[in-house]
Amino acid sequence: MTPTESPVRPRVYIETVGCQMNVLDSELVVAALKKDGYELTDDPATADVMLFNTCSVREHAEDKTYSALGRVAPLKKQDPALVIGVIGCMAQKDQEAIRGRAPYVDMVVGTGQLAKIPELVRAVRATGKPQYALSLGRTDGGRHEVEASFESYDPARDPEMRPNSSQAFVRIQIGCDKFCTYCVVPSTRGPEQSRHPDHIVSEARVLVDQGAKEVTLLGQTVNSYVFDHGDGRRTRLSDLLARLHDVDGLGRIKFVTNFPKDMTNDLLDAVRDLPKVCKYLHVPAQSGCDEMLKRMKRLYTVDEYWEMLHRARERVPGVAVSSDFIVGFCGETEDSFAKTMRMVEDARFKNSFIFKYSERPGTKAAERFPDDIPEEVKRRRNQDLLAVQNANSLTDHQQWIGREARVLVEGLSRQGQKAAGPVRQLLGRSLTDHIVVFDGNERLTGNFLTIDVNDASPFTLYGTVRTGETQGATGEYTAPRPKRVGLQVV
Ligand code: SAM
Ligand code: SF4
Repeated sequence: MTPTESPVRPRVYIETVGCQMNVLDSELVVAALKKDGYELTDDPATADVMLFNTCSVREHAEDKTYSALGRVAPLKKQDPALVIGVIGCMAQKDQEAIRGRAPYVDMVVGTGQLAKIPELVRAVRATGKPQYALSLGRTDGGRHEVEASFESYDPARDPEMRPNSSQAFVRIQIGCDKFCTYCVVPSTRGPEQSRHPDHIVSEARVLVDQGAKEVTLLGQTVNSYVFDHGDGRRTRLSDLLARLHDVDGLGRIKFVTNFPKDMTNDLLDAVRDLPKVCKYLHVPAQSGCDEMLKRMKRLYTVDEYWEMLHRARERVPGVAVSSDFIVGFCGETEDSFAKTMRMVEDARFKNSFIFKYSERPGTKAAERFPDDIPEEVKRRRNQDLLAVQNANSLTDHQQWIGREARVLVEGLSRQGQKAAGPVRQLLGRSLTDHIVVFDGNERLTGNFLTIDVNDASPFTLYGTVRTGETQGATGEYTAPRPKRVGLQVV
């Protein structure tokens, strides 16, 4: 090597399937590997290490990973030194099945063991032997033992790893103790554990120093967050929001996902009273039929969900609420489904994510109830529910026409990405999590702007930047960012 040549760094490629928690895990894993000398590539053909961060919530997500593994098999054949790792939820749940279907996989690492990845990659490269790191199953030991085997993975943050350095996820809770009968999460992510508030606040400060203006707090049932200090003091989510609100330079705080039964008044009051906290609550209802909710073991009735919804809207004027629904759950009759349709019609959610039930081996629902709703019925119910939701979303959006929305600019919209020129379509989100698109210079990314809304579709608000703000009247332009290699979310 001549003095002017820099050493060739090994490359890591990562594909991520699933939720925001997985996106955060991938960001952190790559940051840790970068510290170990790796650089990120978005070209699998040039990778020395290839990671698949997986999801097990629905069968479709697992199929995606197996087909990706099939696609890369020839690369491994060509280059046996290539390290292939399967990490995350599927790894925790199906280690043997993965090695059975893709014997060339070198590394299987569960959600609670991600901190070990750099060391495991080194071990594979040194020995050529497969490496496994998995946490205990929920019944493999006492609560403390199982908890200890699922470590919250929160290493130092690297802003380079985020598509937009002004937004960041912060994990405040790992695991889940709700055990909804259809869901794999309590086994793939282990027992519910809340992180120490001091660590969360320090992490938020670091993120702000690195340029973050908005943090999204993540937890499976984020509103059940409570940290017991062991001396009689407890920090609830409302207390944590108040502490984060005091972080100078932080402009916005969001949190997802909420569990309906844990929606306390102190939390709603914090959302109302703290100006930086988004007036937005994602609170999945899953079904509008009591019998289904009972089978799902959701721990609330339809009336209780409505009580929570009315209370939220009363205490937090203007709050936007969104939901998730599962259609075609075991035993869902046309009558049960009609109740869900009515709920979606009446509840006026900002938006809803609608999923066809996917039977997950190992769950209580798979053990107890036959997956008896035909695929075409699931599909039809999915479309029907979506149509009702879309009509409501359009009505909600039309009410914004003629109003202003204060948005954090997230970057180019999909249309903007395809266009050329200095002024292209940008996308931002309002304090109520509404998506707003408008024309502007990409350099406005990461700024707060006021948009005059002049049109609406079921998914998007359209508007123009309030005069004066495009020129950066506040002088808050974010410097143009170098081209980043993105994390692949599929
Ligand atoms: N913890 C969150 C909650 O309780 O709402 C979300 C967890 S899950 C990753 C996200 C959504 O996936 C759930 O709200 C549910 O609607 C859906 N989901 C979970 N298991 C499912 C299954 N077996 N089939 C279809 N959808 C499922
Ligand atoms: Fe799954 Fe229910 Fe826990 Fe959400 S609350 S992660 S749906 S078990």
